[in-house]
Amino acid sequence: MGNAYYPPQSPIATGLRGRCPRCAAGPLFSGLLSVAERCRACGLDLRNHDAGDGPAVFVIFFLGVAAVGLAFGIEIAFEPPLWLHAIVWPPAILALAVVLLRLFKGVLVALQYRHRVAEMLAADSGGGRDEERRGPGGA
Ligand SMILES: [Zn+2]
Repeated sequence: MGNAYYPPQSPIATGLRGRCPRCAAGPLFSGLLSVAERCRACGLDLRNHDAGDGPAVFVIFFLGVAAVGLAFGIEIAFEPPLWLHAIVWPPAILALAVVLLRLFKGVLVALQYRHRVAEMLAADSGGGRDEERRGPGGA
């Protein structure tokens, strides 16, 4: 399981589908927005793949602008009563925020996985050269 070869996956495709960034088979999330501790399909440890506040920042900027623009557009076009705005927008924004958070979080975790793998490979090749330099009597 640990040494199996996994072809590179698109971080966008696996992230948007909420799949493991290594095998694209197991689910990335264990709940609505919480990342699973381990991939159920390939066993990849996902505990260190934390997107932090990154997805929230993207969602705040994108959804904030979109919601305000839409609210103003609907107000100008249809002039609905204010109570209708007050009833419609909060649940719509909340639902969209959760959906967008999940999508952005999936993509960011997949991007983190992809770039950390690249760093680890670079460190591995550097470590190998170090061992060669020491020679037979080095250690
Ligand atoms: Zn996996």
